[in-house]
Amino acid sequence: MTGEQRTIASTEAGSGITIRFWGVRGSLPTPGAATVRYGGNTLCVALQCGPHLLILDGGSGIRGLGGALAATGVPVDADILLSHTHFDHICGLPFFAPMFNRRARIRFWGGHLAPPSGISEALHLSWRAPLMPDLDKAFRASLSFHDFTAGQELPLHPRPRVETTMLRHPGNAIGYRITWGGASVCYITDTEHPATGIDDNLCQFVLGTDVLIYDASYTDEEYKSRIGWGHSTWRAAADLADAAAVGQLVLFHHEPSHDDIMMDEIASAAAQRRPGTLTAQEGMCIIAVPRNTGGAANPPPVQPANP
Ligand SMILES: [Zn+2]
Ligand SMILES: [Zn+2]
Repeated sequence: MTGEQRTIASTEAGSGITIRFWGVRGSLPTPGAATVRYGGNTLCVALQCGPHLLILDGGSGIRGLGGALAATGVPVDADILLSHTHFDHICGLPFFAPMFNRRARIRFWGGHLAPPSGISEALHLSWRAPLMPDLDKAFRASLSFHDFTAGQELPLHPRPRVETTMLRHPGNAIGYRITWGGASVCYITDTEHPATGIDDNLCQFVLGTDVLIYDASYTDEEYKSRIGWGHSTWRAAADLADAAAVGQLVLFHHEPSHDDIMMDEIASAAAQRRPGTLTAQEGMCIIAVPRNTGGAANPPPVQPANP
């Protein structure tokens, strides 16, 4: 058994949320020697809430998660919460092994599209010619597609509580707040802070969360020429985390041009600005625990061997 499988199996109900980062790069996969430490796969984060598996986005990182899940031999039963359907967030889905397993049950959730468009239509478009071979015929899993309106709480009961909010991104994107066992994780990616500073709605949404995973694509300097592109900065992330009294801040959705050396510089500057800040790396695993139980608010990141 690999380190990954132990991690996935180890969190029992009430003991917090195990968070594993399978893809942390924004916009485009960036493999290569210059990005090997932080990772080049696009967005995918697995949350294990007791027996419940939630998957945040299906970027190229989901391929590794699929391999690890398939290796367990246990049929997958998971909810995939999509922030939106820009390609960096869905390009791994055709390579997610459980999609080809007839014993798997996968529920897709999306709330960024205006009716009559829906998440099923958007995903199927990306799974058929001329973008792909017609994968509908190849997928064997039981798939279901669920549209919702931003602000709605998702009916996953009795599974983890999942709240949603609209983010500031071209074509819309959804932010999620997941609560389980008294701990909460907010997944806020592909959003831009307002010119005035902090997005007040978002601040309320993430208020007091134990872990905030946040879009920190740009440096302040880079942002000047990318206003309106729908992404934020590490400094805005720290400001938001302070204003919302967040426990652990995790920087995410790294810009493709940022190599490991630059990421080290950003990580160091961010940790100086807000002590304890983590910069997501592919393979990183942390556990969200409620701060009011005397548990570790900022548990040290555990990094099991990559499978
Ligand atoms: Zn993105
Ligand atoms: Zn996007």
